[in-house]
Amino acid sequence: MTAPFPTATITGYPRIGARRELKRALESFWSGRIDADDFSRSVHTLRIETYHRLAGLGLSEDYAIPASYSHYDHVLDTALTVGLIPSSSNGSDFDLTEYFALARGTASTPPLEMTKWFDTNYHYLVPELADDTAFTAHPQHLLALVAEAEAAGHRVRPVLVGPLTLLALTKPAPGTTTRPFDRLDELTAVYHEIIGSLAAAGVDWIQFDEPALVADIPGTSDEELAEAARHTYSALSATEVRPRLFVTAPYGSLRAGLNGLAGSGIDALGVDISSATRAVDPQYVQRLRTQVPDHVRLVAGIIDGRNIWADDLRTSLDVLRELNRETVSVSTSTSLLHVPYTVEQETALPVDVASWLSFAEEKVTEVEALAAAITEAPEARAAAFERADRARRTRSESARVHNDAVLARTEAAAAHTGFRTDFATRHAAQQTLGIPELPTTTIGSFPQTPEVRRARADHRSGRIDDTDYTALMKDEIDRVVGLQEELGLDVVVHGEPERNDMVQYFAENLDGFATTDNGWVQSYGSRCTRPPILFGDVSRPNPITVEWSAYTAQQTSRTVKGMLTGPVTILAWSFVRDDVPLRESADQIALALADEVLDLEAAGIGVIQVDEPALRELLPLRESDRADYLDWSVRSFRLVAAQVSPRTQIHTHLCYSEFGEIIDAINALDADVTSIEAARSRMEVLDDIAEYGFEREIGPGVYDIHSPRVPAVPELVELIEAALRHVPADRLWINPDCGLKTRGYPEVRAALANLVAARDEVLTTRADRGRGDHALVGAGQPPR
Ligand code: GLN
Ligand code: ZN
Repeated sequence: MTAPFPTATITGYPRIGARRELKRALESFWSGRIDADDFSRSVHTLRIETYHRLAGLGLSEDYAIPASYSHYDHVLDTALTVGLIPSSSNGSDFDLTEYFALARGTASTPPLEMTKWFDTNYHYLVPELADDTAFTAHPQHLLALVAEAEAAGHRVRPVLVGPLTLLALTKPAPGTTTRPFDRLDELTAVYHEIIGSLAAAGVDWIQFDEPALVADIPGTSDEELAEAARHTYSALSATEVRPRLFVTAPYGSLRAGLNGLAGSGIDALGVDISSATRAVDPQYVQRLRTQVPDHVRLVAGIIDGRNIWADDLRTSLDVLRELNRETVSVSTSTSLLHVPYTVEQETALPVDVASWLSFAEEKVTEVEALAAAITEAPEARAAAFERADRARRTRSESARVHNDAVLARTEAAAAHTGFRTDFATRHAAQQTLGIPELPTTTIGSFPQTPEVRRARADHRSGRIDDTDYTALMKDEIDRVVGLQEELGLDVVVHGEPERNDMVQYFAENLDGFATTDNGWVQSYGSRCTRPPILFGDVSRPNPITVEWSAYTAQQTSRTVKGMLTGPVTILAWSFVRDDVPLRESADQIALALADEVLDLEAAGIGVIQVDEPALRELLPLRESDRADYLDWSVRSFRLVAAQVSPRTQIHTHLCYSEFGEIIDAINALDADVTSIEAARSRMEVLDDIAEYGFEREIGPGVYDIHSPRVPAVPELVELIEAALRHVPADRLWINPDCGLKTRGYPEVRAALANLVAARDEVLTTRADRGRGDHALVGAGQPPR
């Protein structure tokens, strides 16, 4: 007899380990400190302990726990499992050498490209599909996960990225003629084979994740996707002997795809009824109620998998009842991959703030409590419901959250567009800054030496006091300024030694934010971040960067650039409020930063950069939501500098090179100077810019800081010359692609010296050419 679908489940769990055990195992293995057997033992222990923990928290029914572990990335795992990426392994695990070569590259092969997983901060590896790749089934590692769990007393649910999503995220290999999506039927046949093997091993339930069904996938319409879903899952469910199919559609609401999927013959459908609008969408609930046939188990993802707020269990229970079904299972809206492990590990958070939060473990408890409340009554889980009620009440009444002065100020700014005087006027006024032609600068951070990191850690833990810490930071600034003067950079920076992270630093210095000690979330592979928590109205108790920038200006006669992180990036890399719209938080942060900008200006800093590398990241998955997002995000950026004098030059930095897609928005930022990534694409991005007629100053990065390679002078000259073919000399800046924080001094020194030398060479050539022209004119030739 097949097991019924569990009443309480989650669609995925963080894999890095509560104490980042996976990170440690990976890094030890990569560095050769442990061998493959040690590595396999460590991650085996991590998986089994996780299963025990989850069962203890209430996921004790068969198949309640998803086997969502991955060494590095679940997209890579699925691609290997179906042979979309050819692999030589047929054993119980991937071939680790092969696996990590794909994930991280080797001395001779580049890694797979990495990009953001839907609109989250998780990055997956982008599979490439060649015309001659024949898909093949490699279910062995799934079978091994199942067997390993079974031996430890757990029946877990294997998880794969579904075929539609896998192909939607795959890019054609260079020289390929077919669209990956056109090979769906072929791929489905391999999924078919895989589920056959799982059935033979006695697996009752398997999970396929299909987030592509809630997004707008370029080149594929909603209707085409919905039809493909129906077709594919009809084929898969027509298999005679198979596990039951649980298909999830996380990260938003299904549109046309709902009918396609619900009627295809699948056995359980996981829907996200929490995260789409950060509030339950009643229309979606209504559609689920009418469009999901009774024989399909509805798995209601009501506990938010992406944010960290304690759930309002009573409201959720009402929604579950509104679904009005005989049987409904309770789950998370998305995998819990996006949240840290447990609030228990946060001893430094203000107690009231801590009581408002639910991380992964607390969310599992919430799922279980809701499931029990449906089948029994809320009283069955009185403690959980009381915690939820208390959190809701104390949070809505808290003076820590609500600040009338901030609200009044935000309201007063609501009508302000944030625009300054026109660019031409500013451009003329900024001539007083005395910035030379083709100016050289950097994006802000300089390498963070072990000494700098130690000073910050010592200060944090109280081993050194404020005075000693300030002195150490000022020494570092002296060194960084000295180096920039020696290298001949025109606009100098202080180097950001005081910042552990460009968002966390501002969060630590603004009211309304909390930061965690152990709230690690996987960004990719072994890389984790600790997103700050925005819980209340935002204000700036004291100037943040002014002391450092003002000190820097005293040490040099060169122009100093002040350095801030913009409101959109601060929001994008934090856990945000669910009780006010994002646009309101963006305005509050913008106004706090506006004070900082004015203070910097008053301290004599004439050039200020406001970084917005995440502007594009927050772009909504649905095309139809984008205009509204760009409208508020871009306006909040403008608010930051709305009050400065036309003589003050505002820079922005956007990391990526996909400029074309949101070029209107970038133009509307109204920054005087914009720096972007360009070296990797050999200045290709400038075609978009020239075509668009972007009129402001621009600094396309000529030095790719993502690689330890030092670019040689001729190569840099070539890139600068290429840029000059698109951008007039009085609007072009010469700078690296991004901050230098992760690089080492030897390479940075060499690369920046070459950058200045290349600029000088270009200037000399231009001057010679100019003289040449005059000579020709003098000789009676007609001017060209
Ligand atoms: N100013 C930041 C730095 O230089 C910008 C980093 C970024 O764009 N991600 O590190
Ligand atoms: Zn950058």
